[in-house]
Parts: sequence; structure tokens; C-alpha cells
Amino acid sequence: MSDWNESTIRRNLECIHERMAHAAERVGHHVNEITLVGVAKTFPAEAIRLAHAAGVRHFGENRVQEWEGKRAALGDLDATWHLVGHLQNNKAAKAARMFHAVDSVDDFALAQRLDRCMGDPARSGVNAAAGAAGGRRLRVLIEVRLAVEESKSGVQPEELPTLTEKVVELTHLDFAGLMCVPPLFEAAEKVRPFFARLRLLRDDLERQLGRKLPVLSMGMSQDFDVAIEEGATEIRVGTALFGGRGVK
Ligand SMILES: *Cc1c(COP(=O)(O)O)cnc(C)c1O
Repeated sequence: MSDWNESTIRRNLECIHERMAHAAERVGHHVNEITLVGVAKTFPAEAIRLAHAAGVRHFGENRVQEWEGKRAALGDLDATWHLVGHLQNNKAAKAARMFHAVDSVDDFALAQRLDRCMGDPARSGVNAAAGAAGGRRLRVLIEVRLAVEESKSGVQPEELPTLTEKVVELTHLDFAGLMCVPPLFEAAEKVRPFFARLRLLRDDLERQLGRKLPVLSMGMSQDFDVAIEEGATEIRVGTALFGGRGVK
């Protein structure tokens, strides 16, 4: 099914870095300001290990259960693990325990539950000492739905001002910015308005909250160049790094 191996992952990563550098250069940003999140869904732990050996330090999964199955084999790796897919309330405790970042928060009840789990080490299973010392906060992004599509998760842009006012009050969460998964187009240029919109929404929120929201997670294999031109600080790349997933 998959065709990944050490040399293809290395070569793919070089291509990605080159695309990132060119896109950043076009808008006068430095490529080091952009974080590559390797989205490893459907790929086994060994593929993640190879990508890590090649230099990737952030990884994304879209299912709690899938990551639960892989993480035991990767406990020795120094990396930041992101949940990028929809999170159900009843999996919040597990997610708080197994990820450093939840990039797909789209509901206040979910944010509250994550906050409670982080604040209560016994419940979330996070390292008790770190928890008690208030050491670890869970990095969260709010996922915004920019197109009217029934199946997509994310909050409507109109809901953002109210939701963010409440989320910033949750002391065990580090609310860092916004994320989006726009519709897929054949031509990456068509996605540009969605990326631009997310950046404007972020800028509005910064004014409203009176503080920086440094993270814009947008852009995938097909279109991350355009996302970087529109201000992405994190791109989430699966196929271009690991190869095709076969059935999605
Ligand atoms: C799968 C996935 C990606 C990566 O998609 P590719 O097109 O393979 O790069 C990015 N973000 C989310 C939320 C995903 O589920």
C-alpha cells in the first residue's frame, strides 16, 4: 500500500524545505519561522521514526486511538505531538495526556474539559509533579470553518469572538491561534482567499483580546506554499512527506 522508506522520506523532506524556503522568501519571511508538522495518519511508527531521523520535530495525528497505538513505540523521541483531527468530548482526557497540542478545538465544552484534565493530573494521567506545579499547559488552536460544508468541523467565524473570550480564561490551556482545513481545490491558488481570511480573523482577535496569537496553522501538501505566502506559521503536511495514503 505505502511506498515510504528512508530515502524517499529524506528526499521528500528536502523538497518540502525547498518549497517552504521559496514561499517564505517571496513574502520576506524566514523559513525558520515556519514549523513543519508531519501528519502521520495511516503511517506506522517506523515511518515517523524515519522522518524524525531526517529532522522533523513536530508530528500530527487525526485520531486519538491511532496515536494511542503508535506512541509506545516512539516514547524515546524528542518531538511535539499534535492532534489535528476532530476530538470528541469523551476522548478529551486521553488527548490531554497523549498530545502536547490540540489544534482542532471547536467547542467550549471541549476546551473546558481539556482544561480540567490538565488541571487534575490524577484524571488526565499527566505527570503528577509537573501537573501540581502547574508546569505543563496544553497548547490549543481553534479550528475555524471557512466554507459551508456540512461534514467539516470547526467553529463559524461569527462564533470566534465569544468563544475566544472564554477560552483565554482557561488557565491550563495555552490558546495560541487559529487553524483551518479549507476545501480542496485542483488549483492551490483557489485556496488563497481562505488562508487570507483566517489571517484577518486572527488579526481581529488579537485586537479584541489585546494580545498576540502567534500561530496560524494552515496549508497541506497541495497548497502550503500559498498558505506560507498568506502568513502560515505552521503547515500540516502528510502526503508530500510520507507518500500517498491509499484510501483516505
Ligand atoms: C491529513 C491531514 C493533513 C495532511 O494532508 P496532506 O494533504 O496529506 O498533506 C493536514 N491536516 C489535517 C487536519 C489532516 O487531517
